[in-house]
Amino acid sequence: DHALNDADPEVHDIIRKEKDRQFKSLELIASENFTSRAVMEAVGSCLTNKYSEGLPGKRYYGGNEHIDELETLCQQRALAAFHLDGNKWGVNVQPLSGSPANFEVYTAILKPHDRIMGLDLPHGGHLSHGLMTPKRRVSGTSIYFESMPYRLDESTGLVDYDMLEKTATLFRPKLIIAGASAYPRDFDYPHMRKIADSVGAFLMMDMAHISGLVAASVVGDPFDYCDVVTTTTHKSLRGPRGGMIFFRKDPVLGVDLESAINNAVFPGLQGGPHNHTIGGLAVCLKHAQSPAFKTYQKQVISNCRALAKRLGELGYRLVSGGSDNHLVLVDLRPMGIDGARVEKILDLASITLNKNSVPGDKSALVPGGIRIGSPAMTTRGFKQSEFMATAELIHEGVQISLEAKSLASGPKLQDFLKFVASPEFPLQDKLSELKKRVE
Ligand code: PLP
Repeated sequence: DHALNDADPEVHDIIRKEKDRQFKSLELIASENFTSRAVMEAVGSCLTNKYSEGLPGKRYYGGNEHIDELETLCQQRALAAFHLDGNKWGVNVQPLSGSPANFEVYTAILKPHDRIMGLDLPHGGHLSHGLMTPKRRVSGTSIYFESMPYRLDESTGLVDYDMLEKTATLFRPKLIIAGASAYPRDFDYPHMRKIADSVGAFLMMDMAHISGLVAASVVGDPFDYCDVVTTTTHKSLRGPRGGMIFFRKDPVLGVDLESAINNAVFPGLQGGPHNHTIGGLAVCLKHAQSPAFKTYQKQVISNCRALAKRLGELGYRLVSGGSDNHLVLVDLRPMGIDGARVEKILDLASITLNKNSVPGDKSALVPGGIRIGSPAMTTRGFKQSEFMATAELIHEGVQISLEAKSLASGPKLQDFLKFVASPEFPLQDKLSELKKRVE
C-alpha cells in the first residue's frame, strides 16, 4: 500500500498546490474555515470504508458496533454543543451536507407542492430555501414545492417582517424558513414564531453560516423558537463538510418530527452515512464545547466589527449599516464598481472573497456587492488590527479595479476580464505589489 505521493503524484501535487494557495491567501469567504488537524485525521481514516445504513442499534449491515458507538457519541456531543435537553430535542448527524439536510426536512414535513417561504436569494437567502426567478424554478426546492420568498426592506437592509407577515397571511405557507447565506444581522426568531403560529406553519432555522456562533452563545438562539434547525458543519462551526438536522421530540402540528426526519434522511434521500465525516464531526463538536472555541467565536465577531468599522471609515456602504455576526455585505455601487470586477482583481492579489447580490441589484452575474467573512482568518490568528489592515488591502484592490475598469476596451465584464488577463495589462505592478503584501 503506497502513500499518496507514490501512488498518485498528480493528485498529490494538486493537493499540495491547493494547500499552498490556502496558506498564502487572505481567505475571506464567509462560508469557509480551516478545520483542525484532528478533524482531518478522522475524515481521512478507515471510517470511510464502512457501510452502516440505518441508525445506531438498527443497521442493515453487520460489523457496526464501533460505528454505532461513534454515531451515538456524535449525537450526544451535538446536543451538548448546542445546550439541548435530549428529552426535548433529537438530532440526525447523517446529512451529507447543508442542501441535502434542508431537502430532507422538506421531504419529512411537507407534501409535494406544499407552500414554503424562505429569504429570497438576491436578498441573502440560500438556493435550497426555494429560489425562484420570474423565468425559472431554479432549485429543487422550488421545483417540488411552491415557494414565495420574503425579502429585505431595501431602505434598511433588514428582513421586512411586516411584509413577511402580510404575505404569509395570504399565501398560508406550511413552512417558514429563517436563515441566510449573506445576512449580516440576527433573525428575529420570536417575531417569526408569531407569524408561523398565526398561519399554522412550521418554523425552521437554517443556521449553516452561524452555527459556531450559536454554539458559543454569541448570537441569538434559534432553538428557543424553532421546530427544526438545520446546519452545515464546515462553516463557522469549523468541522468537516457535512450537515445536521435538529428536531423537537414532541409532535409539532401533529407530525412526529423524529421519525419523519430520520426516515427522510434514510431511506428517503440517502443511503449509507459518511462515517468518516461523522467521525470528524464528533471531534469538531468536542472542540465546540471548549472555552477556546467560545473565545474564538467572540473574536470572529470582534474581528468582523473591526472590519466593518474600517470599511465604513474608508467610505464604503454596508448593507444594514454594519454586522452582528461573522460577515459584512459591502454595496460597491456607490463607488462606481461591482462585485464581479472587484472579486477578480482581489483574487489576482490572493484575497479570496465572493461577489454577492445586494438589495436592488439587477444582475446576479455582475452583482453590486461583495461578501466578506471573518471566521477563516480568525482561525489563522487574525485580531482586530489585522482585519483593519485587511479592509485597507481590499480598498487598494477596489482602487485598482476602478482604474482597470476605466482603461478596459469596453463596458462589458468580458472586456474587463480579457483586459485584466492580457500580458500588457498596465496595472500588473500594482497588483503584484498588493499580492506580495497579502502573502
Ligand atoms: N444553507 C445555507 C444558509 C448556506 O449558506 C449553505 C451554503 O453555503 C447551505 C445551506 C448549503 O450547504 P452545502 O453547500 O453544504 O449544501
